[in-house]
Amino acid sequence: MNSEQRTVSSNKIYAEAGVKLSDLVRVSIENNLTGLEWAAGIPGTVGGAVAVNASAFGEEMKNLVSDIKRYKNIILSVELKLKKNAQKNLIKKYFTYRRQTQPLDYPSAGCIFKNPSQLGNKMGAAPFSRGLPPLSPLPAGYLIDQCGLKEKKIGQAMISEKHANFIVNCGPLRRGASGAKAKDVIKLIQLIKKTVQKKFNLDLEEEIEYLPKRARQSRSPIG
Ligand SMILES: Cc1cc2nc3c(=O)[nH]c(=O)nc-3n(C[C@H](O)[C@H](O)[C@H](O)COP(=O)(O)OP(=O)(O)OC[C@H]3O[C@@H](n4cnc5c(N)ncnc54)[C@H](O)[C@@H]3O)c2cc1C
Repeated sequence: MNSEQRTVSSNKIYAEAGVKLSDLVRVSIENNLTGLEWAAGIPGTVGGAVAVNASAFGEEMKNLVSDIKRYKNIILSVELKLKKNAQKNLIKKYFTYRRQTQPLDYPSAGCIFKNPSQLGNKMGAAPFSRGLPPLSPLPAGYLIDQCGLKEKKIGQAMISEKHANFIVNCGPLRRGASGAKAKDVIKLIQLIKKTVQKKFNLDLEEEIEYLPKRARQSRSPIG
C-alpha cells in the first residue's frame, strides 16, 4: 500500500477512504494506539466502515471519527482519534471469538439481518430475551436458529450451521465454477423473514444492501 494513503500523527490516524480497515488496525497497533482493536477481522475499507458505522463488541466507528472529508456524499478521507497504549491481546481475543462463532471458512456478506429491538416486537416479554439486559436487541441469529433454519440450502447458498445470521456460499471456489447465485441468497432471505414473522410475529430487517441488477453485473458478486 502507498503510505501516502494514511498517516499517523500523535494519537490521530488520517486515512484515505480506500484504505483497508484491517490495515488501519495494524497501523494503530504498530503506533501503540488503542481504540480500533474491535475492528480486526471486519472486511472492507475505512470509507465503507464509516459510511455504514461498522460496529462490533459494543464499539462503533462513529465514536472514533474526528474529521471526514467528503465530495458530495462520497467520503474521501477520515481522521480517527485514538488513545495511547495499544491492547494487542484484545485482537487475539476478538479474532478467536470470530473464528469460534462465525463461518469464516466460507464466503459470505457477514450478518444479513439487524438484531431487532425488543421494543418493536409484538410478542410482549420474549421468553428467549431472559438473560439479556432489558430492551437490548434480540440476536437475529438466535431467532433464525429457533425456526430450525440452520443448514437450509437453496442452490449453493446455505444458512450457516455456525451462525444462522450468515448465509454462506458453499459452492466450489474455483474461478469460473458455479457457486451460490444472488437469487438463491434472496430466496433464503425471504424464507427467513417469512418464517420468523410467522413464529415470532417479528419483522427482521436487512443489514445488507441490495444492489440494482446492473450494478451486480458490473461487480463480481457471489452469484
Ligand atoms: C465475515 C464478515 C464479518 C463481518 N463483521 C462485521 C462486524 O463485526 N461489524 C460490522 O459492522 N460489519 C461487519 N461485516 C460487514 C462489512 O465488513 C462492512 O459492512 C464493511 O465495513 C463495509 O465496507 P466496504 O468497504 O466493504 O463497503 P461496501 O460494502 O462497498 O459498501 C457499504 C456501503 O457503504 C457505502 N460506501 C462505501 N464506501 C464509501 C465511501 N467512500 N463514501 C461513501 N459511502 C461509501 C456504499 O455505497 C454502501 O452503501 C462483516 C462482513 C463479513 C463478510
